[in-house]
Amino acid sequence: MRTLRSKLSCAVALLFLFGGIVARGQEKPAAKIEVDLRDAGRRVYHSKMEFPVTAGPLTLVYPKWIPGEHSPTAAIVDATGLHFRGNGKEIAWRRDDVDLYAFHCQIPPTVTSLEVTFDYLLPLESGTAGVPSASAKLAVLPWNLVVLYPDGEKSDDVKFVPSIRVPDGWKLATALQPLTDSHRTDGALEFEPVSLTTLVDSPVLTGSFFKTYDLAPGQKVEHRLDIAADSVEATAMSPQELRNMRQLVAEMGALFGARHYRHYDFLLALSDHLQPNGLEHHESSDNRAPERMWLDPDTLEGFVDLLPHEFFHSWNGKYRRPAGLAAPSYQEPMKGDLLWVYEGLTQYYGEMLGARSGFWAPSQLRETLAATAAYLNERPGRTWRDLQDTAISAQLLYGARPAGSSWRRSADYYDESTLIWLEADTIIRKESNGQKSLDDFCKAFHGTEDGAIKVAPYTLDDVLAMMNGIAPYDWRKFFEERIHSHGPGAPLGGLENSGWKLTYSEVLNEHQRADEESSHIMDVEFSLGFSVHAPGGDDANSIVDVIPGSPAAKAGLAPGMHLVAVNGRRWSPDGLREAIRTAKNSSNPIELLAENDDYYHNFSVHYHGGERYPHLSSSGGADLLSAIAKRRAAEVAK
Ligand SMILES: [Zn+2]
Repeated sequence: MRTLRSKLSCAVALLFLFGGIVARGQEKPAAKIEVDLRDAGRRVYHSKMEFPVTAGPLTLVYPKWIPGEHSPTAAIVDATGLHFRGNGKEIAWRRDDVDLYAFHCQIPPTVTSLEVTFDYLLPLESGTAGVPSASAKLAVLPWNLVVLYPDGEKSDDVKFVPSIRVPDGWKLATALQPLTDSHRTDGALEFEPVSLTTLVDSPVLTGSFFKTYDLAPGQKVEHRLDIAADSVEATAMSPQELRNMRQLVAEMGALFGARHYRHYDFLLALSDHLQPNGLEHHESSDNRAPERMWLDPDTLEGFVDLLPHEFFHSWNGKYRRPAGLAAPSYQEPMKGDLLWVYEGLTQYYGEMLGARSGFWAPSQLRETLAATAAYLNERPGRTWRDLQDTAISAQLLYGARPAGSSWRRSADYYDESTLIWLEADTIIRKESNGQKSLDDFCKAFHGTEDGAIKVAPYTLDDVLAMMNGIAPYDWRKFFEERIHSHGPGAPLGGLENSGWKLTYSEVLNEHQRADEESSHIMDVEFSLGFSVHAPGGDDANSIVDVIPGSPAAKAGLAPGMHLVAVNGRRWSPDGLREAIRTAKNSSNPIELLAENDDYYHNFSVHYHGGERYPHLSSSGGADLLSAIAKRRAAEVAK
């Protein structure tokens, strides 16, 4: 269903194209795109485009493979009300029978400008068709949702003059450069002409409650944090958090030494009506988090690495990109085999920079890494599916449901690669007698061509050659072994090399505790072997996943059942923890009553190991981890 059109339909489309667009060799005039966001609160975006055309057949396409999403978007299901017009008259279109993202039409002889209009209906909830991008008080506009472009064209070669209208009183931010400081008389704000690549790379954030923070005061290259939230209170950061964000900008400068943007805007939408997410761009990032991210420390704990992660992508992912992910148009399929570099290295540095910028104390970083290591260490899915296959299967796994994820696996290359890149970092430090680190690799690999906003594709061989240039080692063997490993257990060598080992105790992991508070999912995966939605919230009492081979799985419990009672009493997180503690000194099983569809069943769980939560304990060696997580740039001014 998600496979792409055949080569035949691609060739046919190219023939159409040469008949309908301005002749080859001529400078192509820019198309126009006007997007009206004034109905964002009603979850509708209106789009109007004008293409210069010549008579003949023409095919326009809707972007399918969006950089950074690593899977084809299904948003086209919500592209509605499509009309093609020339000289005020309707021009009939026909969707391609094979490539459902392509629309064919015949441009009449007298028509030189094709008007295309359609609406994009925003989903209210995340699902197979896309994700919500607006609430009653804010909106994010990824331009790929509202644009068509001539089939067969490279996104670099298609030029647009973009303009938008936003609701009265709403402010906006984007990496696009406005043509003038003021709005047009019709209320639209017009931007400088850009390629389709830059347009899709430059989303707009707009909202009623809006605040912009200067993250690099007095510096030549501007960095801003633009927040649109569902309340004015949610736009407020503490002075310490602002300092941490400024430190993050300084740390990234110290790490790479070169930047690939004119200015950088962190676009941050804070709403409980959007799905938490981050999407990287060259000169900005589209970040979405809960409304109370800056107000609630437990929520912030879960999002500390979001902004560092997306910022790091400006270098690793946007400037340097695996060749398989650097397609010339949005219709060509992507290959995810190097996502363990693209996302894995970014995940590793997102967490280290969360600590270097001051958001995480070393102990908080350790708790996060312990939770990651334990999660992977107890995933039976690793026995059949290696890291490489999770990356190749990215386009399937991003949409996979949480139920069954311990056996199916998910986009685990974020987490597993964090441990692998930590190990690589410790090996470089050891091999170079402390003279070099993975930071040197980043500077050499990503920190070139200062000021260039471009894509420099790479292959695995390029990565290995640069690693060898920093510290000679059998890196090919190192990475091949790890991306093809089936365990048992997670790759914990990096933790060991950095002075730490994975241990368990009855004390709740701090990162897990904060996660439970904000996600309302209780996790007893390391003792009984399952996680469950807490009472009262979304999907209340529903069991998220059960780890195959765990005590809960052996008792017969399965994802999707609803937990009703523990030892005969209506279940609660505190009651379940109490039951685990009691069973430690008893030979009686823990009795779990659960509802499976319309039937109730009692499950006797034979587990007497007590509460069990992951932590890192000193292995006796030097604490290299704290050295890696230490601030590198000068401390920013208070
Ligand atoms: Zn990422």
